[in-house]
Amino acid sequence: MALVNEHFLKLADNYLFADIAKKVRAFKVTHPSPSVISLGIGDVTRPLCPAVIEAMHKAVDDQTDISRFHGYGPEQGYDFLREAIIRNDYLPRGIHLDMDEVFVNDGAKSDTGNIQEIVRWDNSIGVTDPIYPVYIDSNAMIGRAGTFQDGRWSSVTYFPCNEENNFTPQLPEHRVDMIYLCYPNNPTGTVLSKNELRRWVDYALNNDALIFFDSAYEAFIKDPSFPRSIYQIKGARKCAIEFRSFSKTAGFTGIRCGYTVVPKEVSASTLDGKERVSLNQLWRRRQTTKFNGASYISQRAAEATYSPEGKEQVRETIHYYMDNAAFLRSAMTDMGFKVYGGENAPYLWMKTPAGVGSWQFFQQMLYATAVVCTPGAGFGPSGEGYIRLTAFGERELQQTAVERLRQWTKGL
Ligand code: PLP
Repeated sequence: MALVNEHFLKLADNYLFADIAKKVRAFKVTHPSPSVISLGIGDVTRPLCPAVIEAMHKAVDDQTDISRFHGYGPEQGYDFLREAIIRNDYLPRGIHLDMDEVFVNDGAKSDTGNIQEIVRWDNSIGVTDPIYPVYIDSNAMIGRAGTFQDGRWSSVTYFPCNEENNFTPQLPEHRVDMIYLCYPNNPTGTVLSKNELRRWVDYALNNDALIFFDSAYEAFIKDPSFPRSIYQIKGARKCAIEFRSFSKTAGFTGIRCGYTVVPKEVSASTLDGKERVSLNQLWRRRQTTKFNGASYISQRAAEATYSPEGKEQVRETIHYYMDNAAFLRSAMTDMGFKVYGGENAPYLWMKTPAGVGSWQFFQQMLYATAVVCTPGAGFGPSGEGYIRLTAFGERELQQTAVERLRQWTKGL
């Protein structure tokens, strides 16, 4: 008899956004107009920039010519892209990486979910709360998260991020082996200062713990005092793995390309404590077995984001979204809501009125205005009492959404 991996049965049936989509579909059946506007899911809407399109056309043409045709590429990614990543994303910040410390992938979701495979199943994990759901769910799938009860996983240490602590997670009082940090943060849109991040790196170094640092939104940081990479913090090369993505930076959610940095110094111990093993070596072994590389066309597209024109065009799109963020932030504040984030990240974290739960607010807003938000509770227990709004979207639609929200809130 074949047996299932029963850890999967502990997970909620649906991923958060599938759940929202189902509720929105049900709403649309009974409310065909006005049209639904989504300020919910974090997907980009602006087209790819011309430099990227041109590079993709060229890459397609390469595939028509026997001398330029590309079949399987290197599992870690083509040299041209890894070089561009190191030269543009790290060297200017004084961070030196070797080519074999960069692993190109098909987006950050895969690697943030898969990275836990290379460490023992019984390591303990800690996550900021609220949190991008992939970190916990991927750990739950192999039993590391324990059981789910009353909105919490029994074996996960939560670091609450809320108004009281200004969305700054506090260090755990007990040992945690693996820590997930995401900054700029999804969903709260808040950032961590260098000093605050340094406390986490020091904790990891002092406790022989690992940090999985997701900086998928680093390109949205406007204030240069905030770190864009964890390797800007001394010692991080010994304890941190960093995930990046072209998805939000350059509109690649449909193209699929990102990368993971695993410095050679990051290591973990064998159970008997006799040997330290480099995680770079394990991750390479894992990737060469289970991953055949991102497509040549995606990698040429990603490379183009680093050309002078590409950089400028990507920057313009980010400005566009960040103008949306400023617009939404000011409009919602004007309506009397408390809004956080949105200054160095494309997400806003809005407090729901007293006594109104986040799913309840989602439902009320949807039925009153046909505007979709993401209920904070979907991101973890500390998300209750908040909703997430996204700056990704077209300006006119955001303006219409705000108009509808103004009308609605006037009548509340
Ligand atoms: N990490 C965070 C924090 C995200 O919010 C997302 C996507 O929304 C991802 C990773 C996944 O991005 P990708 O499209 O690169 O898989």
